[in-house]
Amino acid sequence: MHRRADEGWIEVVCGPMFSGKSEELIRRVTRYHLARVPTQTFKPALDTRYAVSEVVSHSKLSTAAQPVRDSESLLKAVKEQTVVVGIDEGQFFDLGLIDVATSLAMAGKKVIVAGLDTDYLGRPFDPIPSLMMQAEYVTKSLAVCHRCGGPGLFTQRVVDSDELVVLGGGDTYEARCRRCYNPKKTHQQTWEMESA
Ligand code: ADP
Ligand code: MG
Ligand code: ZN
Repeated sequence: MHRRADEGWIEVVCGPMFSGKSEELIRRVTRYHLARVPTQTFKPALDTRYAVSEVVSHSKLSTAAQPVRDSESLLKAVKEQTVVVGIDEGQFFDLGLIDVATSLAMAGKKVIVAGLDTDYLGRPFDPIPSLMMQAEYVTKSLAVCHRCGGPGLFTQRVVDSDELVVLGGGDTYEARCRRCYNPKKTHQQTWEMESA
């Protein structure tokens, strides 16, 4: 495959849970794959929610993905001939992902990273914000606010936990607009306040 070094770049797809980040990653990687451009997709080994060796969206789209422990193992697993490198759940990687994505792009690869830009408290969720600064292309996706149907910008945790990482789907998290989002409260507490 003909490839020039200046064809490498970084794309970031960010937003809250349910905003279609994985769907978009799958779409972007699949169109290259269908055109026989060599692709590889990775995910952090800790994300075992739906499948171990696939990226699966909430709408059940999927693509094969290799689970990797950290950014260093990701870099080692990228093959010389690979042109498109997809990475899902980028927020679960170490900060080394920034240098890894940069060197892959410098080597002429198209790096597409999907991930949460903010955590459940609305704080920057690195390495995604740092990757956004290094990226040629940034797409911010919005979900539909689970409470009011407005622009879902944040991820509201609806179970009680102070852990940064709590794996889960629709029973653990909701997408919320800026008005309905309250990082300090779980769904249950919000409901209790309103009905008091
Ligand atoms: P992400 O990777 O950003 O969490 P996915 O790509 O896995 O999102 O899933 C996106 C899909 O989730 C949508 O196409 C839709 O079918 C479904 N979905 C469920 N709840 C919502 C919501 N509140 N807003 C938008 N999409 C939702
Ligand atoms: Mg996803
Ligand atoms: Zn709302």
